[in-house]
Order: sequence, then C-alpha cells, then structure tokens
Amino acid sequence: MTEPDYTPWVERIDALAATAERELIRLAEINSGSNNLPGLRALADVLAQQFAPLGGTLTRSELGCTRRINDAGEEEPWEHGPMLSIRKWPGAPLQVLLVGHMDTVFPVDHPFQSVRALPQGRLHGPGVADLKGGLMVMLNALSVLEGSPWAGRLGWEVLLNPDEEIGSPGSAPFLAAAAGRNHLGLVFEPSMPDGTLAGVRKGSGNFVVVFRGRAAHAGREHHLGRNAIRAMADFTSSLDDLNGQRPGVTVNPGFVSGGGPVNVVPDRALLRFNVRIDQVEHEDWVLGELKRLSSDITGRDGFEVELHGGFGRKPKPMTTDTRRLFELVADTGKRLGMDLAWASTGGCCDGNNLAAAGLPNVDTLGVVGGNIHSDREYMELESLISRGRLSALLLMRLASDQTAWPGMPGNSAQGRGNGR
Ligand SMILES: [Zn+2]
Repeated sequence: MTEPDYTPWVERIDALAATAERELIRLAEINSGSNNLPGLRALADVLAQQFAPLGGTLTRSELGCTRRINDAGEEEPWEHGPMLSIRKWPGAPLQVLLVGHMDTVFPVDHPFQSVRALPQGRLHGPGVADLKGGLMVMLNALSVLEGSPWAGRLGWEVLLNPDEEIGSPGSAPFLAAAAGRNHLGLVFEPSMPDGTLAGVRKGSGNFVVVFRGRAAHAGREHHLGRNAIRAMADFTSSLDDLNGQRPGVTVNPGFVSGGGPVNVVPDRALLRFNVRIDQVEHEDWVLGELKRLSSDITGRDGFEVELHGGFGRKPKPMTTDTRRLFELVADTGKRLGMDLAWASTGGCCDGNNLAAAGLPNVDTLGVVGGNIHSDREYMELESLISRGRLSALLLMRLASDQTAWPGMPGNSAQGRGNGR
C-alpha cells in the first residue's frame, strides 16, 4: 500500500504556532497550582474554549475530595479541582488517549507567576514546559488531524486533570478507566532539555509518619516527657540509611514539623517522605522496613507512631507494546528529520498510571524545556512546531493506516477490546 503524502497537513502546524505561543502565555499567566481551585477552574474555562473547535463531546467534572494528613498530624478532606475530558469518534476501530495536566507546582502565593521571552527563542514562565506547552502541542496536533482527510478514522479521548503534580490522587480512577477504553496513550509531559523522551520510569510512594510522645514541663518534669522530635529524628536517620541498601530504591525525607514552645517537651512531630523504586517487588521490602523502623519507636515507653500513605505510582516498565509505540514515534520523528531517543528516568507521571492500567504509552510528547519545577522553568518556542508536527503526523499515520499500530485488534493477539 502506498503511503499518502501527509506533508501539506503536517505543515499546517507552522501556521498555528503564533496563536499557540499567545495562548500558551495566556495559560501560564493563570496560576494553577494543584491546590488553587479558583485558578484551576479559570484555566479549565480557557481550555474548554481553546479545545471547543475540535468538536466531540466535552465533559467537565469536579474531582471532589480525597483525604490527607495535615501538618498537625490530623486527617482532613483534600479537595481537587475540575477535570476536562473530550471524546470524539468513539466508534472508530482504533482509540487513542491524550493526557495532560492543568496543575503546576507553583502555589498561588509563589513569586514565580509571570511569563517573559528569553533570548534564543525561549519562553520563561511557570508551567510553560510542564505542562501547558504540551497542551498546545496536543491541541494543534488534534486540529490538524480533524482538518485532514483522515478525520473520523481515529477515535480519541482527551483527559486534562488538575492533580498530577500531587500524584493524581483524585484523577487516578479516571485515568485507569480511560486507559481501559483506549488502545494506546500519548501524554504531553515535556521532553528532556535535549529532546530525549522518557522511557522506563521509576515508581513512587508518598508517606507521612506522625510521632506522638508525652508533653511535660521542660524544667520541672523533663523526665516525665517523651520527646516526639527525638523519636522523629531517630526514625528519619534510620530511614535515610535505607538509601544504598537496594539498587534502584531511594528514600527522601522531605518535610518535618512538630513541637512548640521550647520549655515544653514536644508530644507531636511529623515527617513526610518520598520513596522511588525501579521494580514493583521493592514495594514489599520498603513497607517491611518502614514497619521495622516504626516498631523501633513504638517499642520505647510512651511513644506512638502512625504511618500513612503508600505507593501511588507503579514503576513504568518497557513492555513489548510500549517499545513498539516508541519505535513508531521515533520512525515518525525520522520522517520529520528528528532523531528521537529515549532514556530511563527516576521521575514519574500519569504515564505510570496508564501503564499500570495496561495501556502502552509515550509520555513526553509535549514541548522541549528545562529547569521544570523551579523558577527557571523555560520551554523552546520552536518545539511548539517540531513537537506539534510529530504528534500530528503520528495521529494521521494511525488514522490512515491502522497497521501502523501493531497492537491494533486484528494485528496482534493481544489487541485490546474497544469500549471496555
Ligand atoms: Zn508535569
């Protein structure tokens, strides 16, 4: 079968780039820190307008609450913001899920709030790379597909969540459900600064430990007190000592709080930490070690320890289908003169969630950028064009020739049923 000439459609991306740049600045100037619900709602309003010309069925929902432990060690409701999803052509034989997040790591009171152009064609601003630039890449690629002769031959679902930067606690069930009704996933996280994509990703767990001792007057009855800060410090040192014990496992004590007036023996302290693992089997080892460290403390007279949290994201392995998808992306890049490689990373994202639900996915199809999660975050403006072309061509190839995706039902024994 001769392949169609996609060039005239791919080149439409270039004409969309100026608008994409302007709209990206508009998005980045709306603060959408994960806990800034009014900001996330305002951003969702703008995105709903931007994506409306694509057609399809747009659904806007509020994720509602999960629970979290506050810095005083008490459980409280944790409200998450809006989620947008759009579905089009659900009857097409091949269904693609496109995922991006609306939230950033910058809270509403963070000093980093504005966008400016840098020399060498860069844009500097909160979320310009992670992930708002990717939202523009996604939008433009879909609008090229929908304006092409292959529109309607590929079903797609867009899912934009408000809680990725805090581990997707509210949107995880929606990601898993969407993974179940699509054949492959494209996630628009930024690539590495040199354009390399993320391949294998580590899994991640977030934990909180609350230490309770006994308050006492620091002068008169110091001996009756049980110092929760000391218990926390001992636990934290032993926890940090787990680093280096198993290859592929790292532990990061990241936040502590506790105590009060210095003339009182503190009866409460709290530790938050993150664990990264490269094999799912490490979960049991880590949990066993945490239990051991906890009982070291509770074995002491007058102390209690509460351990909260768990592994929210499984490691993302390179499965056969994921490798095929990477090869398809790389081959698509090659046709555009791009040399795309992928590398392992300790970072994780919603690509981990989709992989855990069985959906092969490439998760760094957004813009090229760097210094993400810092006030030096930037993106390469040129990548609005190059990455837009990449995703547009990928979608058109999948739409026009469905043998392009070997995981397609009929092409392989493991084809996933549509509409599950
Ligand atoms: Zn991100």
